[in-house]
Amino acid sequence: MSDVNGQPAGMCAAYGCPLFGTVGSESRWYCFCHVNKPSNFNDAITRELRERQMHIVESTLDLRRHACSFYGEDSAYRAIQQRLISADRRDLLMSAHEKQNGGVRAWLLRLERTLIDSVADIGIQQRIPTTVPTAPVIGPTHASDFLPYADDEAA
Ligand SMILES: [Zn+2]
Repeated sequence: MSDVNGQPAGMCAAYGCPLFGTVGSESRWYCFCHVNKPSNFNDAITRELRERQMHIVESTLDLRRHACSFYGEDSAYRAIQQRLISADRRDLLMSAHEKQNGGVRAWLLRLERTLIDSVADIGIQQRIPTTVPTAPVIGPTHASDFLPYADDEAA
C-alpha cells in the first residue's frame, strides 16, 4: 500500500524520505525533519538524511520498531550501539543519565533531535544580519530641511 507520492504507507510523505510520517501537515504525514519545511527543499533534506545521517536514521527506526520495549541487553540494542560506534558517534549512545531517566524514549528523542539539527539549515531563508551594514553608512542624504533641534542650537 502506498500513497499518491509512491511512499510506502506509514512513511514520510516527502519522496524518498527514510523516516516514518509522524507529524500531520496539510492532510499528509511528514517526518519530524520534513514537517514545516518548504516543499522545494524536500529533496535536499532527504539527501542529507540518506547520504550522511543513515546511521542515526536507522537507529531511530529500530528504536520505534521495538516500541521502546527492550531493557539495554538484547541484540537490537547492541546492533544500534554497534552502528553508532562504527559511524564514530559514541556521543549518541544511550547515556547513563538516559538509562536512569526516561530510558529508550529519552534516547530516541535525542537521536531525533540530532537529525532535526542536521537539516535545520536546509530550507530556511538566510536572513541578512541587521548588525552588519551591506554598504557604507553615509548618513542622511536629503533631510537637510529636517532640523528637530534647531531651536536648541539657536538658543
Ligand atoms: Zn521526511
